Amino acid sequence: MMNTPLTVTSMIERAEKYFPKKEVISRTLGGIHRLTYKEVGERTRALSSALEKFGIEKGDRVGTLAWNHHRHLEAYFAIPSMGAVLHTINIRLPEEHLIHIINHAEDKVLLIDPDILPMIEKIHQELETVEAFIVMGEDYFVPKSELDPLYSYEHLIAEGNSSYEYTVELDENDPAGMCYTSATTGKPKGVVYSHRGITLHSMAFSMVDTAGLSESDVAMPVVPMFHVNAWGMPFGATWLGSTQVLPGPMATPKVLAELIETYKVTATAGVPTIWLGLLNELDTGNYDMSSLRAILCGGSAAPKALIQGFESKHGIPFIHAYGMTETTPLVTLARLKSYQTDLPEEERLKIRGKQGLVVPGLDVKIVNENGEVNRDGEDMGELLIRGPWIADEYYKDEERSAESFRDGWLHTGDVATMDEEGNIEIVDRTKDLIKSGGEWISSVELENALMGHEGIFEAAVVSVPHPKWQERPVACVVLQDGIELTKEDIMAYLEPNFVKWWLPDDVIFMDDIPKTSVGKFLKRALREQIREHYSVEKN
Ligand code: AMP
Repeated sequence: MMNTPLTVTSMIERAEKYFPKKEVISRTLGGIHRLTYKEVGERTRALSSALEKFGIEKGDRVGTLAWNHHRHLEAYFAIPSMGAVLHTINIRLPEEHLIHIINHAEDKVLLIDPDILPMIEKIHQELETVEAFIVMGEDYFVPKSELDPLYSYEHLIAEGNSSYEYTVELDENDPAGMCYTSATTGKPKGVVYSHRGITLHSMAFSMVDTAGLSESDVAMPVVPMFHVNAWGMPFGATWLGSTQVLPGPMATPKVLAELIETYKVTATAGVPTIWLGLLNELDTGNYDMSSLRAILCGGSAAPKALIQGFESKHGIPFIHAYGMTETTPLVTLARLKSYQTDLPEEERLKIRGKQGLVVPGLDVKIVNENGEVNRDGEDMGELLIRGPWIADEYYKDEERSAESFRDGWLHTGDVATMDEEGNIEIVDRTKDLIKSGGEWISSVELENALMGHEGIFEAAVVSVPHPKWQERPVACVVLQDGIELTKEDIMAYLEPNFVKWWLPDDVIFMDDIPKTSVGKFLKRALREQIREHYSVEKN
């Protein structure tokens, strides 16, 4: 067989060639934009030509700090197609993490949404490698800013070459993109995506038993384009020529419901918090959601009530999936097998509430100290994954790569079971991180800060279930002998050093914190104790 490279370039070229009339509908601070793939293709080429003028070469990293909109989509293709690396940056990260990852990736140019400029103005003096900033707003003029040099995206597009040719020689294993993910300790870790990995992931994502994406779909990725390439939806949708709806900044449940209704969205993807919000909105408003054939939900466990809420009340198919930044991200997806569709509702829901079956192309196993676990849905172990869209290292990070990538497998840190049908269920995680509304909070960083207080003897931070955010941090604190501190004192102490959404929801004072035989906090026991504490309090 021919060994032609699988590249991201071929995705946008296919959309330009065969679907020039199909549309990308994009919501920005400036309103709704409707562009055809012909226009998106030309603008993408113009952006590549502008970046070339800035001296961007094969292998250089170009960062984006942006919401989901057409300009971000253009960057998704313009950067990898010229051989450079699309570095999508999570705009919700604390400042010190942003500084670290921009410096660590050695981004040469940053593309920034207008509302995110102030954040970069605050940290720009600490950015070591950035040579130019581009503001992705509506105007041809640049706003007054401390960033220098600062260019207008639209001006660059207008001046750029819309028939620029992608002549760079690409090997399918060349890097196309990268994304950083939070770590239990220390700074975020970088994951690099190859052209081949993204292409194969897009194929697997689009299969009928997976997301079943097709040309006839109107795809709306709600998951941010800075979270693992919006789960690969923009790549797949462009390749197939699907209509795309990109919901832009501050996409409230009302905005999402209106976009679905107006543009007849058929498939959408996001974290449970988003869908809990939409479900509430549907309960209060009167919307026509009849176009929706699939809501994909991942990033955190989807509560069964959420699945039931959409399906029984609104007749909208709701699909639970699992993945990670390291896995591009799709690994498993929960669907009923053909012989399970007649099972009683409760049993069907039980299957669909699990994270599901591994998608074609990947291999998984679950291991504990006794080897591979029994496929009985009870035996627990760590989930290991391998396959052509699974990372094999963290970027420039030998130590942490060696911890997670061993013997040809990615060790996920997720604790799981597998039932006899092969369905995986995530039951716990070993990483000391709390996932709130799809974003990570490091319990270790909060604990270190707390234990830096001279009145605090010991502190452990654990997650508690939350109806909206899935998990929220709660601090368990043992005070030094003879010291008196209130919850308010402790919160006031933490406040200056953390972004607001990282702050614990509660502080519980304790006499001691349960520990393992080697003196480590026994987080699982503590979590149970805390949950009991709240249920006693409620009663
Ligand atoms: P991220 O790299 O930020 O995408 O986070 C990946 C992690 O999120 C996984 O290792 C899991 O701990 C968690 N996760 C993702 N999807 C699910 C899911 N459907 N259910 C439970 N946990 C999930």
